[in-house]
Amino acid sequence: MIESTMMHFPLTLTHVLDRAARLFGTSEIVSRLPDKSLHRHTYRDFHARAIALAGALQRLGLKKGDRVATLMWNHYAHLEAYLAVPCAGGVLHTLNLRLHPDDIAYIARHAGDRFLIVDDVLLPLFEKFREQAAFEHVIVVPLSGAAVSAGDDYEKLLAERFPFVPPELEENDPAGMCYTSGTTGRPKGVVYSHRSIVLHSLATAMADYLGLSNRDTVTPVVPMFHVNAWGLPFTALMVGAKLVMPGPHLDAVSLLDLYEAEQVNVTAGVPTLWHGIQQALDREPQRWRLVPGMRMIVGGAACPEALIRGLDRHGVRVIPGWGMTETSPVGLFNFTKREMADDDDASDASYARRAKAGVPLPFFEVRALADGREVPWDGDTMGELEVRGPWVAASYHDEPGSGEQWSADGWFRTGDIATIDAAGYVKITDRIKDLVKSGGEWISSIDLENALAAHPAVQEAAVIAVPHPKWGERPLAVVVAKEGASVTSEALHAHLSSFAAYARPAAYVFVAEIPRTSTGKMMKAKLREAYKDWRWT
Ligand code: AMP
Repeated sequence: MIESTMMHFPLTLTHVLDRAARLFGTSEIVSRLPDKSLHRHTYRDFHARAIALAGALQRLGLKKGDRVATLMWNHYAHLEAYLAVPCAGGVLHTLNLRLHPDDIAYIARHAGDRFLIVDDVLLPLFEKFREQAAFEHVIVVPLSGAAVSAGDDYEKLLAERFPFVPPELEENDPAGMCYTSGTTGRPKGVVYSHRSIVLHSLATAMADYLGLSNRDTVTPVVPMFHVNAWGLPFTALMVGAKLVMPGPHLDAVSLLDLYEAEQVNVTAGVPTLWHGIQQALDREPQRWRLVPGMRMIVGGAACPEALIRGLDRHGVRVIPGWGMTETSPVGLFNFTKREMADDDDASDASYARRAKAGVPLPFFEVRALADGREVPWDGDTMGELEVRGPWVAASYHDEPGSGEQWSADGWFRTGDIATIDAAGYVKITDRIKDLVKSGGEWISSIDLENALAAHPAVQEAAVIAVPHPKWGERPLAVVVAKEGASVTSEALHAHLSSFAAYARPAAYVFVAEIPRTSTGKMMKAKLREAYKDWRWT
């Protein structure tokens, strides 16, 4: 009989917080405020303020496991809450400020939130659901400089420097919470542990994945209420990177100004954002001096190949990743493996690979199933993606009856349809419910959308399944033309000539915009409803 002689050392965020100040005290955190001025402080200030917040929460009665909600943009105070709440033994519950107030209230009640930290500029939103939620303590962050009257003043609480008594924490203790932003159905709560966040940060930071280092300057544009800004704040603090927080101004010009001013070299967000950035750069290619080779991480929805090509022309590297609320979120990340390193980077094959969702992180396992059987890794056969790993949810918070999301042998069913190739690159071809099933064949709506987006006159496109008397379903393309451009159905159909005849849209409609969810995904359910009675000719 032999036992390991290694220490039992819990993987908690307390270590991340302390280390941030001890080793990287001079690293900067820059936040753009609502009036567009820049707020600057260092990791050392951040640490002192996070400890002060932890003490204040304890003084207000925070007990282990209490939920502390945030209704905030991306900035220094939100970052302080990110570490202070879990290190005080609480559970950080980031509320999605883009949801309908009734939905925010439902989520806050379902989660059992006791505390709320809210930006003063978001108080008008808060007032719309204040009565429906049951917060015992409201703390207001004075971002705009106006006097605080709706709750405790965040800055005054911190100035009190209430003593902080670090609680005993185990690595499996709950640390954070996020609700799914599903395109259909009720939002469901996922509770992250200290351990899952730490392991996710370690794995994503690796060179081939986010590749974050101490020398990087990182801007999470993805909101801190969308799956912990994909873990970037934690990962950045772990390596001591400079953080540049965009606050509420997320239009392309404001972002480009910030990237230039702070020389940002890594940023992350959903594809629609980067479309805007590309258009701004196309319009005024000389206006901004960006860091050469800047990395734009894209996730939350499939990355169109046209976007990668378009931003390559401006010296910006678009890198897709894949994830879900239930997977912390990052599970896949796209990098060029050594066996492909000699490929011509500008070849069509290379672009097709670069647009895939990526290869699995260490300790993140994938398989794709069709008709109950695992499909081969041939890059062609589609199946439902199932995943497992230490930062994948094993259940939802207080949601009896949701067990069908997990397979009998414990894998999480993602609801995404994917192919996996021999080299391990996963390509998402659809959400299960968005698949077009035409005459017994599966048609990938994402492939068609990406091909349409590559047409010079197309801004974006959504392809949906519409009932058809003969084929069961046929694809309908809903297209937004670029400003000032015009295009016909015939031209688009010809543009898709590389697709099999049955796989091309059976009709095209032109619209001014495609409805989107609070986290930037196309609302295909809404489109399907709008076009369900389409008369095929
Ligand atoms: P959320 O829980 O809001 O992060 O949404 C997760 C869903 O976003 C996934 O199940 C996918 O359908 C979609 N998604 C995220 N990343 C990608 C990607 N790289 N390609 C395609 N779909 C993606």
